[in-house]
Amino acid sequence: MYATLLADARFHELLLTIDRDLADACRTTGCLACGGCLHSARYPRKPRGRPKTLAGRLGPEHDRRFSFCCAVDGCRGRETPASLRFLGRRVYLAAIVVLIAILQNGATDARTERLSQIVRVDRRTLERWRQWWRDAFTATPFWRIARARFIPPVDHTWMPASLLDCFAGDGADRLVALLRFLGPISGGAGMQAR
Ligand SMILES: [Zn+2]
Repeated sequence: MYATLLADARFHELLLTIDRDLADACRTTGCLACGGCLHSARYPRKPRGRPKTLAGRLGPEHDRRFSFCCAVDGCRGRETPASLRFLGRRVYLAAIVVLIAILQNGATDARTERLSQIVRVDRRTLERWRQWWRDAFTATPFWRIARARFIPPVDHTWMPASLLDCFAGDGADRLVALLRFLGPISGGAGMQAR
């Protein structure tokens, strides 16, 4: 199911649409440092993990991250809105960082097996992601506050599968909800590790 979703251009268009909405909201808010107007300063990102079957089917805007620069002279403020496509500076699509980590967590059913055939991620990267979800993510100030809204508490051992399970709907709904939930830590400086 997730393999099908990732290979579906409509899913990527949906993420782009939501990112655009988040960018519009960011721009409307203005510069957080001085309140000045923001100018578009998108920058190129070539995310890994997109199924090859999508090559040539997604426009160039899929390879750009929305970002803004303050128009006020001397401010140099830069705002990079939350994103459902890019998780901080990670080179892989945010959806991949979630789904492949779930695979790594021991999910063995055929649907997730197919995912690993579509997207190749080396073992060291996988291990890094697994540790990030279990240890680093769960220690972020963001999660320490946000975790309170989940009852019963989310089991850290099975992150991010246990977190994905907290959201309602079908596979796409839950994945989009989780990516949206992660928005606050998806900003350019939100995450150091790759
Ligand atoms: Zn400013």
